[in-house]
Amino acid sequence: MKIKEAQTWAIKKLRESQIEQPEISASLLLAEILSVAKSYLMLNPDQLLTDNQEKKYRSWVLRRMKHEPVWYITKHVEFCDQDFVVNKNVLIPRPETEILIELILNQVKNKKLKIKSPMQILDVGTGSGAIILTLAKQFGDYSSNDSEKSSTNNSSHLSSNNKYYASDISDKALQIAKKNADNFNYRTKILFKKGNLFEPWENKKFDYVIANLPYVPSDKMSELSLDILNFEPKIALDGGKNGLEIYQTFLSQATDHLNKNGRIYCEIGDKQGPNMTKMAKQFFPKSQVEVIKDYGGFDRVISIQNS
Ligand code: GLN
Repeated sequence: MKIKEAQTWAIKKLRESQIEQPEISASLLLAEILSVAKSYLMLNPDQLLTDNQEKKYRSWVLRRMKHEPVWYITKHVEFCDQDFVVNKNVLIPRPETEILIELILNQVKNKKLKIKSPMQILDVGTGSGAIILTLAKQFGDYSSNDSEKSSTNNSSHLSSNNKYYASDISDKALQIAKKNADNFNYRTKILFKKGNLFEPWENKKFDYVIANLPYVPSDKMSELSLDILNFEPKIALDGGKNGLEIYQTFLSQATDHLNKNGRIYCEIGDKQGPNMTKMAKQFFPKSQVEVIKDYGGFDRVISIQNS
């Protein structure tokens, strides 16, 4: 079977199974099997697949036809230009979550923070570890690229001396986060602990707390696409009655764990800005609260700045 024929077959099958944008799934899976870039497929339509490649492609397309996400099939995904291992025990890192990273990086790079360095940075509900690993990598990269800054200003917030912490209620998720940390060679840079919200961090305070906790309202779970609903971990998605039950507990605990001038960043659902702001003000009455929208114009991140 030639590349072109394999793709035509896959697109037809995926379309029959109501997979959205079947062309994209068809090429991502084939490119992964052939270990080539997607553009290679277009440039080499007549290349023949080996028997093994064809067999593997057929089995992967069958899995995708049942709505299994491409990234669980290929077992890895790109987030902020880095490769992360994923499986069904962790949420697949989303492009929307990259906004969280951008915001934090921009603040740390551009503004004079009233936080002493090195900073203590925590990712609650780390899942695949994508957030904490990206932050550790990007902060470290900036400090080592900018040799002038790092050699003349030891107190830079982009210092590789920052301390990184991450926790998750799921042991299986933590295994994936640790695997990703190994792949980054960052296993010793991040302290991983198992536990619910702030439970693993008794008596510990942080300067930055980042969280992408479950925020889908329980009664809206059934409206999620089949890809998400049937495959991604419900424990990472279902946020209870109004979607903000877990964030409420998180904020109530966070009051004991945020340093003076510390900041909290949470990913939230597309209409949750007002309710989340109300809750943030309730637990942090003197804080500055801001809701940041994603590129689609939807509420996506809330930042809470402690005073
Ligand atoms: N953004 C996810 C979705 O697409 C939800 C993630 C979460 O609940 N933290 O449904």
